[in-house]
Amino acid sequence: MARSLTILGATGSIGRSTAEVVLAHRDEFHVEAVVGGSNVQALADKAKSLGARFAALADEGANAELKDALAGTGIGCGAGRSAVLEAVDRPSDIVLAAISGTAGLEPTHAALKPGRRIALANKESLVCAGTAFMADARRRGVEVVPVDSEHNALDHALTAGHNRNVEKAVITASGGPFRTWPRERIAAAGAREASAHPIWSMGSKINIDSATLMNKGLELIEAHHLFGLEAERLDVLVHPEAIIHGLVQWTDGALTAGLALPDMKVPIANAMRGAERIPMNLPRLDLAAIGRLTFERADELRFPCLALARAALKAGGAAPTILNAANEIAVEAYMAGHIGFYAISEIVEEVCSSFSGTGNAPATVAEALAVDGEARDRARRLVPGKRL
Ligand code: NDP
Ligand code: MG
Repeated sequence: MARSLTILGATGSIGRSTAEVVLAHRDEFHVEAVVGGSNVQALADKAKSLGARFAALADEGANAELKDALAGTGIGCGAGRSAVLEAVDRPSDIVLAAISGTAGLEPTHAALKPGRRIALANKESLVCAGTAFMADARRRGVEVVPVDSEHNALDHALTAGHNRNVEKAVITASGGPFRTWPRERIAAAGAREASAHPIWSMGSKINIDSATLMNKGLELIEAHHLFGLEAERLDVLVHPEAIIHGLVQWTDGALTAGLALPDMKVPIANAMRGAERIPMNLPRLDLAAIGRLTFERADELRFPCLALARAALKAGGAAPTILNAANEIAVEAYMAGHIGFYAISEIVEEVCSSFSGTGNAPATVAEALAVDGEARDRARRLVPGKRL
């Protein structure tokens, strides 16, 4: 029987890949609602092509335009926070959560309804408010399945044994566009160069996070919340070919790895469907043709954001919330050309150390958002108001 699906962030990179999976498997899913940020035409097109029943945009001012774009289609629509929450509230078996950044937290959290499956791409929800989010998911009987390729791979690898026998869970990193660049050259790089990811085609914020390796740091924190593994049992391995996505090293020294060609449609389909895998008409991994896979240690001197994220994970409490908020402001400033590449890590570090102690992990989403707001204010004060 077809399962109903709501897509948060339907117009983004993950949203578009999700739409491809759905359109190739029309008998498996029917789309209840689609949600976007501000792009009216893109959302209207997605709603129509997917046959959604409802479409919501976060941008309140877009209501009339969205209504016009969907006139005569029979697709209900709305704009603003309440419309987004209405979309989330509509009956659906699966919610694919792919809004980018902490903006995704409130709707993704509101999507935690009994019996649902959350296919989670929006890692910032867990970094900002992981303790509260996962506790609420457990309490409400919601299954949270990672879309992030590394975590999706780990999710499967971990089924090969008991959590207590995990010595280390390792997520791989392609290394981003600056993997082989010397520090001076990275320091002078602009957002366009930072966005030229060698493997993945992604949204603008995660592109920059991949260049700084903050993405990998956020993923360590995401893994901690998803799998209940502490900082000491989580690690990063640079693997430029991005074929192995996650590895579990067991206490007897054996390893279990998750491999796939780097195409987000694979973990997306899996997160939506589960163990009963969907046949996917995609190229198959031909290891003999690839010939060799290579690995390196991550260089935290050239990529200090990774060290900052590890430190926040270790410190616990509200440290990841603070780190994530400061990073979002710094990345925005970098993309706008207001700061240089290494100012991202400098701002994150300064904001993190401006909080005296990290307290307890925020126990509710509201608490997390309060800390997030304060950290954003502090980060904004560190951004110079002029172009470099
Ligand atoms: P994109 O920037 O491509 O897409 C973001 C989506 O979120 C768009 O649909 C955008 O709408 C929507 N959006 C933005 N702000 C809001 C808001 N306030 N309310 C509702 N919707 C909003 O991002 P990606 O698809 O690349 O990434 C999405 C998430 O998935 C991120 O958390 C990222 O870390 C994670 N992820 C992404 C991967 C990838 O390969 N891209 C891999 C693993 C994880 P609009 O188009 O109108 O702006
Ligand atoms: Mg990832």
